[in-house]
Amino acid sequence: MFIDCSGFRGLLIEQTLKTGYEDWTPWLPCDRAIAVPCASAETLLPYTRATAHKAGWQWRIPLQHRIGNGHVYCSKFMSEDEATAILLANLDGVALAAPRPLRFVTGVRERFWVKNCIAIGLAAGFMEPLESTSIHLVQTAIARLLTFFPDRGSAPLDVDEFNRQGRWEFEKIRDFLILHYHATERSDSPFWNHCRTMEIPASLQARMNLYRSHGRIFREANELFAEVAWLQVMHGQGLRACGYHPLVDLATDKEISDYLENIRTVIQKCTAVMPGHAEFVARNCAAQLLIPASATAAV
Ligand SMILES: Cc1cc2nc3c(=O)[nH]c(=O)nc-3n(C[C@H](O)[C@H](O)[C@H](O)COP(=O)(O)OP(=O)(O)OC[C@H]3O[C@@H](n4cnc5c(N)ncnc54)[C@H](O)[C@@H]3O)c2cc1C
Repeated sequence: MFIDCSGFRGLLIEQTLKTGYEDWTPWLPCDRAIAVPCASAETLLPYTRATAHKAGWQWRIPLQHRIGNGHVYCSKFMSEDEATAILLANLDGVALAAPRPLRFVTGVRERFWVKNCIAIGLAAGFMEPLESTSIHLVQTAIARLLTFFPDRGSAPLDVDEFNRQGRWEFEKIRDFLILHYHATERSDSPFWNHCRTMEIPASLQARMNLYRSHGRIFREANELFAEVAWLQVMHGQGLRACGYHPLVDLATDKEISDYLENIRTVIQKCTAVMPGHAEFVARNCAAQLLIPASATAAV
């Protein structure tokens, strides 16, 4: 038995076994990224920020000693030079290295387990990093392999079920990612016009229709993104439900707003007595500052 974890190359699963790769770029068109670290410039924030640009989006991941940044974009709508210029113009501090270009094709291997080879990680597929799901998929693939661990014989039914479950998991995440692009109200660039008007998978269309009708969202089995995550993207990006559950009418508007106000007060009281993120990190898990020589020179 071989585990192919050779990354995008898919040394065994593709180059040797010619399994095939299903290209999802018609739905998730970003296929390039430029990454660059920069110096920290403000108080350490406890979250990653994703900011939409003309033909993609930019990540900003604050670490203790630097900020990781990257611009994910679609090469059909933007050149590498333009993508790099946008990234460098939107850094908080001075760049600490040369921008590094990356290429990828969003999609999934036709099958993950073929004969005596099991693909895990980027060899199994890649969905662009908007929701940082790859390492989660590595983890669940390992857990699934343990569940289906083979004995000496070949078990085609087990292999089929392993592949079916893996595929299902990929498709659920794929739909959630597509929603971020498709449910845009932007009309200021060809890229966003494409995303807003493109055809989407029937499974995502059904979820959006269900939400639009009565605000209902269901999490299937143990899919990664729960109802609240779907709600944040659907409502946050302007999708509105036409109706609501009849039980809502049992409470008056005042009762509902008092209830929400109470939640706000509890959260405010809790956060008021907690240390800030930077203070907590400094007190509990401060990193040693290791600044590379090149960065010192740049600073
Ligand atoms: C732009 C970008 C942003 C990402 N952001 C996130 C994120 O925020 N969160 C997240 O969870 N994931 C993210 N990922 C995905 C993450 O990079 C992968 O999940 C992670 O690297 C694990 O992948 P892997 O081990 O399958 O492949 P890789 O990291 O590519 O490792 C494959 C290894 O196989 C080796 N190899 C290949 N061929 C051979 C050979 N013939 N012999 C020996 N060795 C070989 C390679 O040298 C390499 O070391 C991102 C990916 C990209 C491209």
